[in-house]
Amino acid sequence: MSTVDLPPAPVPARPSLKSLHEAVHDCRACDLWQGATQAVMGEGARHAHLMLVGEQPGDREDIEGHPFVGPAGRVLDQGLEQAGIARDDVYITNAVKHFRYKARGRRRIHQKPDRWQVAACFPWLEAEIKVVQPAALVCLGATAAQQLLGSHIRIGKDRGRPVDSDLAELVTLTTHPSAILRADDEDRDDAMAQFVDDLKRVAGWLSAR
Ligand code: SF4
Repeated sequence: MSTVDLPPAPVPARPSLKSLHEAVHDCRACDLWQGATQAVMGEGARHAHLMLVGEQPGDREDIEGHPFVGPAGRVLDQGLEQAGIARDDVYITNAVKHFRYKARGRRRIHQKPDRWQVAACFPWLEAEIKVVQPAALVCLGATAAQQLLGSHIRIGKDRGRPVDSDLAELVTLTTHPSAILRADDEDRDDAMAQFVDDLKRVAGWLSAR
């Protein structure tokens, strides 16, 4: 499937966070709405200095209708706290607003969205960035980073450093919190420490402005 026969994302001409939250529920710009409970738009302060962009809502997020409220959200909360960043000061969103999964019995297993689905959803993220105008934008994981910064971006090679971009004064990337959850037991502490280091660099940049 592709976007050829699908309507464009119905992003309001002059978006506000409220109008984006309302309009996204009517989006049919890709097929992901069909299996999901609801669209999950980003949340946070209207003029947050920091925007975090993940991949897509997970199982809990799909049910509750809020971003990063499941297990990955708890890892993110720990990372932010250890980096000295208050979650209330952050706008948190995803590159894709509906949950993509594969049903296995009663479980819903996360599936990475296809590139065309991420591209179809981009107008929503673009509008969020325009409304919030964050000073710093951090991509969490490859899906967001490659959509916003280019397909050449690699988490292992590029994480933690500033990337040339017009999206915000500081644009950078780090791993997705779910990758820390998936890490082997012996690697998890290191993965978390690296994640916190990346976030601390952003916190340092924000406090030096
Ligand atoms: S995932 Fe994005 S583009 Fe696809 S239907 Fe949902 S809001 Fe629209």
